[in-house]
Parts: sequence; structure tokens; C-alpha cells
Amino acid sequence: MSCDLSALTNLDPTDPDAAQRLLDQCTQTLTDPSLWIWAIVFTVVCAAVGALIGKYKNAVVRDTLLGLAFGPIGWIISLVLPAQKPKPLCPQCRKPVDADDKHCRHCGVALRAGAKIGTGKP
Ligand SMILES: [Zn+2]
Repeated sequence: MSCDLSALTNLDPTDPDAAQRLLDQCTQTLTDPSLWIWAIVFTVVCAAVGALIGKYKNAVVRDTLLGLAFGPIGWIISLVLPAQKPKPLCPQCRKPVDADDKHCRHCGVALRAGAKIGTGKP
């Protein structure tokens, strides 16, 4: 007896233990460690491939999460999404800063002095 819908339709209604045996077998199938090892390895591989795609799209976190959540479909979504622009670099320390930062968060040098006046941003 296998654990699928055909086993359910072929269940003998006169045998009171048949349903319990089928349930036990299906439970055994779901708790089989090889199934879980396969699922965990597959999930890690999906996340790693997503991270690899993200490395070339400059969006490692986004594409890793897409690969983790959706597997190969997430890879396709990652490939279709536009690449993120690299962050601008601080002219002083050459570390990445946000485009709307007033000061470098690494070395504290003022970025684009006076450019924020009148923009309404804090
Ligand atoms: Zn800096």
C-alpha cells in the first residue's frame, strides 16, 4: 500500500484497521529523515544559487531571500528583476554610503554640503 490518493480510494471499508495502517504509513513517509535531509539541502542550494545571482545583480540579500522562499521560481524572478545600482562611495574613505546621506557613516565627512537645503528631508 502506498501513501497517495489511489490508496485512499482503494481502501477496504470492511477492514476497520485499513485506514489506521494507511495513516501510519503516510506518517512514516512524512517523518522519514531522508525526505527532510533532501528538503533542507534543496533549500540551501536554492538560497545559494539565489545569492550567486544576487552577486551579479548587486542585490545579494534580495535574491537570496527569493531563492530561499521560491526556489527555482525565485531564481527566474531574480533574473527578471533589474539590477540594483551600486551605492555611491565616500570621496574620503571610499566606503559605500546612501545617496541621500549628509555625512559619511564611516568617517563622518560631509557629503554634498548644502545639497539638502529645501528638499524637505531631515
Ligand atoms: Zn567616508
